Amino acid sequence: MAAARLARERSVIIVEEHGEPGVPLQCAGLVTPRGVPRFAEKSVVARVRGARIHSPMGFTLTIEAHDVRALVLDRRRFDRTAFELAVDEGAQALTGTRVTGVADVQSSPAATVRLGNASGTIESSVVIGADGPRSVCRESAGLRPPKQVLRGIQVDLEGEKADPEFVDLFLGWKVAPGFFAWSIPAGDVTRVGLCTWGREHVPATFLKKFLKAPEFAGMAEMSRASGSIPIGAGRSAVDGRIMLVGDAACHAKPLSGGGIYTGIKGAELCSEVVSRHLSDPGGSPLSDYDDLWWDSFGQELSRAFRIRKVFLALTDKKMDQALRLFDEPEVRRLVEERGDIDRPSALSAEVLKLAPKLAQFSPQLIKSLL
Ligand SMILES: Cc1cc2nc3c(=O)[nH]c(=O)nc-3n(C[C@H](O)[C@H](O)[C@H](O)COP(=O)(O)OP(=O)(O)OC[C@H]3O[C@@H](n4cnc5c(N)ncnc54)[C@H](O)[C@@H]3O)c2cc1C
Repeated sequence: MAAARLARERSVIIVEEHGEPGVPLQCAGLVTPRGVPRFAEKSVVARVRGARIHSPMGFTLTIEAHDVRALVLDRRRFDRTAFELAVDEGAQALTGTRVTGVADVQSSPAATVRLGNASGTIESSVVIGADGPRSVCRESAGLRPPKQVLRGIQVDLEGEKADPEFVDLFLGWKVAPGFFAWSIPAGDVTRVGLCTWGREHVPATFLKKFLKAPEFAGMAEMSRASGSIPIGAGRSAVDGRIMLVGDAACHAKPLSGGGIYTGIKGAELCSEVVSRHLSDPGGSPLSDYDDLWWDSFGQELSRAFRIRKVFLALTDKKMDQALRLFDEPEVRRLVEERGDIDRPSALSAEVLKLAPKLAQFSPQLIKSLL
């Protein structure tokens, strides 16, 4: 995305280790409408209006909005479209080429990107590391690794989801320890997956068990994908001439694991800063990016990470109790009318006012959110 914006006015080289963008797939594709730029609208395969959240003890909270709150993307098509746009705008693409390191020595006129397969090096005034969860650019720059890494796995099952406007989320330490499992509509398939946290919790083991649920009986597996999600971002995503966006910057959302919207927003802000900097290196430092992403979504990521700490401290029984408190008519109405999966913490003060019993789950942490 950043490449597409910058290629209009600058010389841009995209280095992609795989032969094709968006492959292998590592995403369920659920995103708010604000995370889908107009050029990518054809990648939308489903529109979601509500969620059913299932507690470990069998209680179900149903949130049903009147309008579309989320879209499901064909992520492969989305990535390909963004890549083609950048190339159409003039970016040069080196596919099948791995970045093995970036050196940014202040006394040199440019940063140096080292390429694998003996392909040599590239000199560049700015390097944008959009190289995902295990970012080589992040490591080269010495920027902070994620506080936590979730591991995810999902399958596409043959057949449309029974209720194609709803996502189902399943909580519980026996279902998806440290996160949740999902079943979401994705056009003519149903996408079922989960993330876990903690080395001992192997996602494939939990998915195998989860897929035995009666609602998935007889649905053939069409494809399978897995990957990791880095959460808990450091305060800076810039070091000298190296900048990070998306998962490389650990910008995925701690409560939902979603990284598409923050990746796109981060790319937009990053390219703005780079463009200004290249026109006026003395007056517009690259470090401005840190203020912009922090103000746009960084504070929300930080608050959401604190809410996640409360979530991680809940036993299955407490998760059930907390979910039931969200079923109070006034709380449910508030969430249905104003709930936003990009900014879940925005409602925390109002939710706590309506359901003060929620504070019992972690009084100190919850106080810090108010
Ligand atoms: C199972 C699962 C489900 C998910 N579901 C959702 C969801 O529903 N909604 C949502 O918003 N988010 C979801 N996410 C998170 C989302 O996929 C990521 O946050 C998002 O893909 C991050 O985009 P990115 O461009 O930063 O990184 P990536 O999508 O990982 O892209 C990085 C790119 O860099 C390339 N690359 C990596 N290293 C190098 C290198 N050294 N040299 C050259 N190229 C390199 C890769 O090949 C890749 O093309 C999910 C993640 C998982 C694992």
